[in-house]
Amino acid sequence: MLPYRAHFRCIARCEGQYGLDLVIYRCPKCGNLLEVVHDMEALKQHSADEWKEVFEGRFMSSKWPYGSGIWGKREWVHPGIRDENIVSMFEGGTNLFWAQRYGKELGVEELWVKMCGNSHTGSFKDLGMTVLISAVKQMIADGKEISAVACASTGDTSAALAAYAAAAGIRAMVILPRGKISTAQLVQPLANGASVLALDGNFDDCMAMVQRLATEEGVYLANSMNSLRVEGQKTVGIEIVQQFDWEVPDWIIIPGGNLGNVSALGAGLNMLYELGLATKRPRIAVAQAENANPLYTAYKNGFEHFEPMVPQTTLASAIQIGRPVSVAKAIKTLKEFNGVVEQASETELADAAARADKTGMFNCPHTGVALAALEKLVAAGTIKKSERAVVISTASGLKFTDFKVGYHESKLAAVPVAKYANQPVELPNDYTAVRDQVRRLLKK
Ligand SMILES: *Cc1c(COP(=O)(O)O)cnc(C)c1O
Ligand SMILES: [Zn+2]
Repeated sequence: MLPYRAHFRCIARCEGQYGLDLVIYRCPKCGNLLEVVHDMEALKQHSADEWKEVFEGRFMSSKWPYGSGIWGKREWVHPGIRDENIVSMFEGGTNLFWAQRYGKELGVEELWVKMCGNSHTGSFKDLGMTVLISAVKQMIADGKEISAVACASTGDTSAALAAYAAAAGIRAMVILPRGKISTAQLVQPLANGASVLALDGNFDDCMAMVQRLATEEGVYLANSMNSLRVEGQKTVGIEIVQQFDWEVPDWIIIPGGNLGNVSALGAGLNMLYELGLATKRPRIAVAQAENANPLYTAYKNGFEHFEPMVPQTTLASAIQIGRPVSVAKAIKTLKEFNGVVEQASETELADAAARADKTGMFNCPHTGVALAALEKLVAAGTIKKSERAVVISTASGLKFTDFKVGYHESKLAAVPVAKYANQPVELPNDYTAVRDQVRRLLKK
């Protein structure tokens, strides 16, 4: 048997392979991002059916480390990590929610929502962070000097980094745009003991800052331009297909900001296809906030050229990004998956989140962007009503209570009319008053 192996390679395919235990983020020849390439010949020693059996046998089991949706697929993710270095909090294995009522309202026969926010720190960022921190733990164990792991963040990356680094006993530093993330997101890294630097600037400024620190101060970079994170995040597409008993859905709709996650989604689905576990590729729709829509603009011009922008404020704060680091990978993915890009205004994203909440969800604003895009693509006939569609819900609404409360109190400046706002009825402590109100409500 060949051993399972993986290495970094330039996405523009420059000559050269780099070990996954090296501190390297970009191609030394052309400056492009790197991607992780697996030894597919080694993986092909198992048939598709054998891999399915392996993955199913491990899925959500209590045998360490296979309870994690990531490490249950370790040969496809980072085969070189030894058990004792795995830092996992049982990420992945999230509910694939059948959005039956919401789907019916839109006229879609089969609508599903992949609940990536039901995770240790409340967002999909855990999927990638378990891989990155485990790799760092192993590098340190093998004698590399890494003083700290750092990221720029619109909130969720810093929460994941802080939690996993704290669990591993590694120092974490996060650089955030001051005043631009939710209270819950800010308090997570603080609670986990990370050093939090709140910058007077936007996310793109923080990103430039952390890249410079990585080059000049030797801190290890934990943003998704580090493709170790992509390796973890790519399991989401594999897991969705597994949850459908290895049937590929027709559409996957995903919100995009820095565009690492859509690239990851494509990478996982490509592996499924190449190793014979899937017989087709789904179509992918990336959803952007109108206020931070450089990919949408590039899509509209047929990807002729890409123009970074200065993003406007959006309620979908985690995707308020104008200079996405992974744009080249994302465009490649969209071309491979016959993809589309749709956008949502502030009112559209807030109303879509609230409308879907009324059928039992509790959506974050970014999931709202994806749901609004779904509604528009269905209305336009791009997504057909007979097609099976999966929306990737990226975070828990519980991390965005300011957004939820603001919407239902009709106090969001960006949403003049909150169509689905719902407020408590305030009553005296008096049975007759309560009964009369109940009667009024039931008559409706
Ligand atoms: C990070 C994040 C996104 C965007 O993912 P990218 O990889 O930056 O495109 C979307 N939603 C939430 C909740 C996030 O935390
Ligand atoms: Zn290169």
